[in-house]
Amino acid sequence: MIEVTNLTKRYGSHVAVDDLSFTVRPGVVTGFLGPNGAGKSTTMRVILGLDRPTVGRALVNGRPFEEHRAPLREIGALLDAKGTHPARSARDHLLALAATTGISKRRVAEVLDLVGLSEVADRRSGGFSLGMGQRLGIASALLGDPHTVMLDEPVNGLDPEGILWIRKLLKSLADEGRTVLVSSHLMSEMALTAEHFIIVGRGRLIADMSGSELTAMTKPSSVRVRSPHAGRLRDLLGRDATDIVIRGDDLFDVVGMDADEIGARAWSAQLQLQELTPARASLEDIFIGLTEDAVEYHGATDSTNNTHELESS
Ligand code: ADP
Repeated sequence: MIEVTNLTKRYGSHVAVDDLSFTVRPGVVTGFLGPNGAGKSTTMRVILGLDRPTVGRALVNGRPFEEHRAPLREIGALLDAKGTHPARSARDHLLALAATTGISKRRVAEVLDLVGLSEVADRRSGGFSLGMGQRLGIASALLGDPHTVMLDEPVNGLDPEGILWIRKLLKSLADEGRTVLVSSHLMSEMALTAEHFIIVGRGRLIADMSGSELTAMTKPSSVRVRSPHAGRLRDLLGRDATDIVIRGDDLFDVVGMDADEIGARAWSAQLQLQELTPARASLEDIFIGLTEDAVEYHGATDSTNNTHELESS
């Protein structure tokens, strides 16, 4: 479990994190989401004791990180995947890390296998691709078999196969009862990876809720209706609806009237319905709406993988 309480971090006059409080619970993947510059990495550094809070505190499994006797067994983190010596092989990097914390060589082989690096484990890590570097970073994070795993932007630079792999890995770690916090500025990726979301903007908490709670926050924008009596239904509903958009012979969308009302009116006119579906905003649309005000600079939509990115200046 990670508990962040009233955390504020200032760099000079710049407030990077502003009175932030949240709890990350075990058993689900929690997404830490917000535009670049929102304060996610700063918060993660404070959780790991790498940065001192100006105000407030962060606890890992009930204690500040530095008060744990064997911190690597409590929390494993990936903050910067380039934190390895380039001349060292993946295996030697992990063996060195294991030696300093009393972790067995067997565990090194296990994590190399877990992240799919066994075959290249004896190559210089300096020659690794970005994706292999991320896998090595994740292997380091998992070395101590920690209760809590925290990864900062782990899918950055990964190919689709690598992204899928991370998604499955995070889910299996959560299913084992671990606490999993993963940050990203990639909305669509997070929507697929996490079940619970902590959304920040300009250092402040914007939302702390499950995906279904987030979706329920928005009203349906329209209701899709399918009926063999579409024409008569359109005439009936058209008097009071804001708009009706014809989608096919037996299909149309109603704007400005909810599904209950449409159903009741169809019933009283004895007109059969075959479909009545409220259209909800996607999680991605909700994220964008929530963080819009917190983005300093509105970045591009990456058309190659249809991923919206929010970037700050
Ligand atoms: P995120 O991880 O959400 O992209 P960061 O935590 O990296 O955000 O940054 C939050 C804000 O704090 C940004 O405006 C960033 O420029 C600033 N910041 C981060 N680290 C430092 C630092 N060491 N010195 C000064 N400002 C910093």
